Amino acid sequence: MQGRLLVLSGPGGVGKSTIVNELKKYPEFFFSVSATTRAPRNGEIDGEAYHFVSESEFERMIKDGEFLEWANFAGHKYGTPTTPVEVALSSGKHVLLEIEIEGARQIRSARPEALLIFLKPPSFEELEERIRGRRTDSEERIQARLELAREEMAAASEFDHVVVNHRVEEVVAALVSLATRQA
Ligand code: 5GP
Repeated sequence: MQGRLLVLSGPGGVGKSTIVNELKKYPEFFFSVSATTRAPRNGEIDGEAYHFVSESEFERMIKDGEFLEWANFAGHKYGTPTTPVEVALSSGKHVLLEIEIEGARQIRSARPEALLIFLKPPSFEELEERIRGRRTDSEERIQARLELAREEMAAASEFDHVVVNHRVEEVVAALVSLATRQA
């Protein structure tokens, strides 16, 4: 039986990566590793966090039709390689794509059967607190992130499900239930 394709999007700072890390305890899920042109951050391992590729390699992958979707985000390119997703779905695993909104829209049209989930903060104030929690950012950078988050929040209605990130365990349970329930 084919697994289910799930997309998890939401504003920067909402806590998507915490959710994904928790879901890694569930063997029925497969986590796509994206390609990106951005530089690795501290502790990020090539092939695990991302496939870190050059601009020209990314362009080649686009040209050769290797992406299920790809988008520009904050000055860098990010894309989902198609093959590992196809292989995992055929083996019956549920595939989770943690991607930004433009990519989610592409999945919506390329794979109408995909389940699009939007992760929302309990309130914009809480999201702002989280974004401000990164003490290294300048006020200008914080304002830019808040503005982007406002734009991202406006896309929530395009998704099949909106899940509010009150508690990590609740969100994980909701995602597991959405993935495994009958279509
Ligand atoms: P970061 O650079 O902080 O890891 O990720 C920035 C944004 O890119 C996040 O919103 C993340 O969900 C998104 N992203 C990561 N991989 C992909 C991808 O393959 N495709 C798209 N469209 N967005 C991605």
